[in-house]
Amino acid sequence: MILSARWIIPITSKVISSGAVLIQGNKIKDFGPASTILNQYPNETIYNYPGSVILPGLINVHSHLELTILRGYLENLDFWEWIKKISHVKYKVLTLEDIGISSLLGVCEAIRSGVTTLGDVVDLGPALDAFLQSGLRGIIYQEMFSPINSEAPRVMEELKKKISRHKKEIINFDRNKSKITENVQSLLTLGISPHSPYTVSPTLFDLINKFSKLHQMPVCIHVAESVEETNLIKHGTGPISDGLADRGIEWKVPGCTPVEYLERLGLLSNNVLLVHCIQLETSDYDILKRNNVSVAYCPKSNFKLRTGFLNLNKMLQKEIEVGLGTDSVASNNNMDLFEEMRTAAFSPSWLKKDEINRNNSRKENQFCAYKALKMATLGGALSLGLSDSIGSIEVGKKADLISVDLTNIHTQPTFCPVTSLVFSAKGTDVNMTMVDGKFLFKDNQFLTLNKSKLYESVDLIQEKLQALVVE
Ligand SMILES: [Zn+2]
Repeated sequence: MILSARWIIPITSKVISSGAVLIQGNKIKDFGPASTILNQYPNETIYNYPGSVILPGLINVHSHLELTILRGYLENLDFWEWIKKISHVKYKVLTLEDIGISSLLGVCEAIRSGVTTLGDVVDLGPALDAFLQSGLRGIIYQEMFSPINSEAPRVMEELKKKISRHKKEIINFDRNKSKITENVQSLLTLGISPHSPYTVSPTLFDLINKFSKLHQMPVCIHVAESVEETNLIKHGTGPISDGLADRGIEWKVPGCTPVEYLERLGLLSNNVLLVHCIQLETSDYDILKRNNVSVAYCPKSNFKLRTGFLNLNKMLQKEIEVGLGTDSVASNNNMDLFEEMRTAAFSPSWLKKDEINRNNSRKENQFCAYKALKMATLGGALSLGLSDSIGSIEVGKKADLISVDLTNIHTQPTFCPVTSLVFSAKGTDVNMTMVDGKFLFKDNQFLTLNKSKLYESVDLIQEKLQALVVE
């Protein structure tokens, strides 16, 4: 098939006006000016997107699909209150069935807003089934918590059981349930997420490290997200330290930054994605670089929870790979990567006076927009270790593509499709989402998911949550 549009943005090469992409099977076979592609391949079915731009699918490197149902439920809380409330609702109020609906709502939103790959952290499990049903590509990181050293061997056994259950679920996924593709299982990779330096004991970190390296599984860790976390790791003070003491949990103060602590534990490598990294000291950037780790930046969540922002300039100077994530919608409140791109481009670290060329501000804006778009596509693919197959429009890469309509009022006029996408467009402007050469969203319809049935279930859970008074 051929997809043609007003513009093609391949990311790794120049924008093509009136361009087309040839797809055969699940791969990109050719792309270029529409006139050339249409002449060269006259027998292909053509899908035309006039006034739209075709680009690689957006990559959300950090999400928690299981928490989608909590959108807007936990507002006006400080970071620690928010964490405590979210745990209460997740474990004491929602059922596994609710978490399944929540995850389906999340994949629906991802597809609708042009996300084709997610790095999703799964705690209770149902998000995996949502992935399989949706046809999205992703890395599913099984999350683990346990700050008590003596519990580590038992928790590690639990983790192994969960991983093997996930493997079986992927292999045994009922192909009839998937309306799209026989290859749905091949879209998923299993990883592990030891939650953070303050919720995982050194012994459990060590066991997970050995296991993940043995099985070459990707790892994702929340780190350097808050001042409170730094105070615990560096000084053994603050609310997390008090919380551990209240629970009778012994804590040996490492006396260094959270990032240095992870390095000392031998956890950092090129298969590791560190989420947040907003409370960094100068030496931490060298640690990230020398261990070749990638970083997930979730700007909206960080701003909303008032925890800080990533120093993008330093990340770029040190050539540390950064992908964009939404984190859970409980702190965001949506999975619109267009908003994340925009917020990343507006992050204060871009705005240092010495970085701005005042004589050429339009060019500077284009630079910022392009960097943000690259972060949401190829940067995400590099951060997840998937850049050989996705993240740009190149011959031989997987056909994970989206089309974005730039004819809407808020994108008129469009002088440059890159700045229009990053500074003006919205997730709802997406008019086509394709993963692995298969349409997941087209002509305003979901091809793998039933949105109206899903809304009915969401309403019921909302009623249940609304009836509760969250203290
Ligand atoms: Zn997170």
